[in-house]
Amino acid sequence: MASVLIALGGNVGDVRATFQKAIAHICGMAQAALVARSSDYATPPWGDAQQDRFINACIAIETSLDPHALLFVLHKVEAKFGRDRAHERRWGPRTLDLDIIAYDDMRLDKPELTLPHPRLFERAFVLVPLAEIAPDRPIAGRTPRQALAGLATDGIERLPDLQEMP
Ligand code: ADP
Ligand code: MG
Repeated sequence: MASVLIALGGNVGDVRATFQKAIAHICGMAQAALVARSSDYATPPWGDAQQDRFINACIAIETSLDPHALLFVLHKVEAKFGRDRAHERRWGPRTLDLDIIAYDDMRLDKPELTLPHPRLFERAFVLVPLAEIAPDRPIAGRTPRQALAGLATDGIERLPDLQEMP
């Protein structure tokens, strides 16, 4: 089994409900089991700032799928929850983005799959939820906690658990 970190993001529709269903989908497969799930965070829009704020979260899973098979499944889950890659702007609004942050200690450098995720260490909106579930896991020689120490986290807000809400 491989130990994998996945980042979730989205800013169209009921994103938190989408996350719940997408996680149930991924971890409902025989080949994957949920190990940890971060809180959901509201985060300022990035890339194109003229759009709604995003919700971001991270999960840790164990899986017997190889990295490409896992990415294929994640793209299927994105599509199931309304993502239409053919009609979206790069870094524009989307219902669901699922990125593989790390797959064991594997390093891959292909356009369709780069591991660890190449923009991980620039993105506080990934590192903040990641630091909640895997603060001390080394990824390409750094831990989420260390990487976060050098980044601004302004505007990133932890959301109450759904069951905590009235
Ligand atoms: P982004 O996640 O950067 O906002 P997209 O979700 O549109 O952008 O992904 C663009 C491409 O990135 C995908 O087609 C995918 O094949 C590729 N990709 C490369 N490395 C990874 C990774 N580690 N996780 C997910 N997708 C990746
Ligand atoms: Mg993506």
